[in-house]
Amino acid sequence: MELNILTICYLIGSVTFILGLKMLSNPATARKGNLVAAAGMTIAIIGTIFLYTDEEGNKLHNYGWIFGGIAIGAIIGTLAAKKVKMTAMPEMVSMFNGMGGACAALISVVEFNHLQHSTTIVETFEGISGSGYFARQLSVSPSFLLIIVLGLIIGSVSFAGSMIAWGKLNGSVKDFSFKGQHIVNILLLLVILGLATYLVGWMPSNSQLIFYVIFALSLLYGVFFVFPIGGADMPVVISLLNSFTGVAAACGGFLYDNKVMLTGGILVGAAGTLLTILMCKAMNRSLLNVLIGSFGGGAKASGPAGAKQQGAYKEISLSDTAVVMSYANKVMIVPGYGLAVAQAQHACHELEKLLAEKGVEVKYAIHPVAGRMPGHMNVLLAEADVSYEKLLEMEHANEEFPTTDVVLILGANDVVNPAAKSDPSSPIYGMPILDVELAKTVIVNKRSMKPGYAGIENDLFFRPKTSMLFGDAKKVLQDLIGEIKNL
Ligand code: NDP
Repeated sequence: MELNILTICYLIGSVTFILGLKMLSNPATARKGNLVAAAGMTIAIIGTIFLYTDEEGNKLHNYGWIFGGIAIGAIIGTLAAKKVKMTAMPEMVSMFNGMGGACAALISVVEFNHLQHSTTIVETFEGISGSGYFARQLSVSPSFLLIIVLGLIIGSVSFAGSMIAWGKLNGSVKDFSFKGQHIVNILLLLVILGLATYLVGWMPSNSQLIFYVIFALSLLYGVFFVFPIGGADMPVVISLLNSFTGVAAACGGFLYDNKVMLTGGILVGAAGTLLTILMCKAMNRSLLNVLIGSFGGGAKASGPAGAKQQGAYKEISLSDTAVVMSYANKVMIVPGYGLAVAQAQHACHELEKLLAEKGVEVKYAIHPVAGRMPGHMNVLLAEADVSYEKLLEMEHANEEFPTTDVVLILGANDVVNPAAKSDPSSPIYGMPILDVELAKTVIVNKRSMKPGYAGIENDLFFRPKTSMLFGDAKKVLQDLIGEIKNL
C-alpha cells in the first residue's frame, strides 16, 4: 500500500516537473510553473522520507539529520534568493547548480562505499605500496558501477566548474589560462575516461584508490574547463554545467531506481542543453567556439578602460526627449543590462503608461541575450507588471522598427551594436542585433560613453539619427516622467 502511494507521489512529481517546465516557457505562466514544479518536488521528497522502504522493509530512520539538512538548506536558500540582486542572478544560479553537482558526486561516493562493504571480499587485506591501505575486489554488475562512476565524474566537473564560474562572475576568481591549456584539458579528460574504463571493465583490487583518483581529477578538470572561458560567455557555460548536473542527477535516479529523480535529472539535462544551444545561436557562436574561444576574455582585455571614443556624438535634453516622445505615434523601448543595474523597471512601466494615456503606442524590443542571462529582461519587466503582449521578440521588433518614431534605449549597448553586422573583425560579428536604426529617431540612455559587456566601441552612438541622454536610467526616467507631466 505504502509503495503504491509512494509511486503516486513520484508520478505527481514527474508530471508537475513537465507541466512546470512547459509553463516556464511563457512569461505569463512562468511563476505558476515554478510553484507547480516546486510543489511536485515537495510531494516527492516528503513521500520518500516517510514512505520509502528498502528490499528488507527498512524505512528511513535518521530523521534528525534529514530534517536538519533540509532546515539549513531551506534557510540559506530563502535568504540568498531574497537578498540576491537581479544583476547577480547568474552567479546564484551557478552556485545552486554547483550544489546539485556536488550532491550527485557525493551520492556516487556513498554508493561506491556501500559496494565496498557489501560485496564479496575476493582479495582481502592486500596492502598497496605499504601505505597501510587495504583493498577489496568488487564483484558487482559493471553497468551499476558505470552509473556510479559517471555520476561521480559529471557531478564533480559540474560542481568544480560551477564554483569557478560563480567566483568569476562575482569577481573573486580571475580569468586564468596558459599556453596549451586546451591540450592539457583534453589529456586530463582522456586520463579520467581511461581510468573509468579500467575501473568499470576490470574492477581491479585497488578500485578504491582509482575511484578517488578519478574523483580528484574530475574536480581538477572542472576547474581547468571553466578557468579560461571569457566573462561574457559564463552564462552559456553555466547553462552547460546545469545540463551536466541534470545528467549526474539522472545517474542517481538509475542507482536508486527512483523514477522521479530520473525524470527530473533528464529534464534538467535536456533543458540545459537546449538553453545552451539557444544562447549560442543568439550570439551566433558554436559551442566549441564558446568553450575554446575568447569572446568575453579577449574582448574584455581591451575592455572599458582601453576603449577609445571615436567621432562626435550629440546629446539631447530631458525636455526635448519629453516632447519628442509625447508627440510620437509609436515608441519602442529597448531595455538592457543598465536597466537592471538601475532597477528602473518600475519607472519604465510608469513612463509607458503615461505615454499610452497620451495616445502613444509603446512596445518593448527584447533581445534574447540582453542583460546577463536569458530572459533577464522579461523577468525584470514582469516584476514591474509590464504586460507580456507589449514585449516583442527580436525578429518581431525588427519588423516593427521601420514604423517606429522613437526608439528609447535604456542601458543596452552590445545588443544594438551595428558592428555585429558590419565589422567582421568585431568579437560580436554575426550576433543578431536589434535594428534600431530603422526607426526615425534613436535616443540612448546610459551614464557615459563606456562600452558594454563585450568591451567594444558602439558606432550607433555616433550616427546622425542617434542622440545621447546621459544619466542613471532610473533617475532619467523619473525626471522624464516629470517633464512629460508638465507638458
Ligand atoms: P551591455 O552590457 O552591452 O551594456 C549595458 C550598458 O548599460 C552599458 O554600456 C552601461 O553604460 C549601461 N549602464 C550601466 N549601468 C547603468 C545605469 N545605472 N543606468 C543607465 N545605463 C547603465 O548590455 P546589453 O544588455 O546590451 O548586452 C548584454 C551583453 O551581455 C551582451 O554582450 C551579451 O552577449 C552578453 N551576454 C548575455 C547573456 C544572456 O544570456 N543574456 C549571456 C552571455 C552574454 P554606462 O556604463 O556608460 O552607463
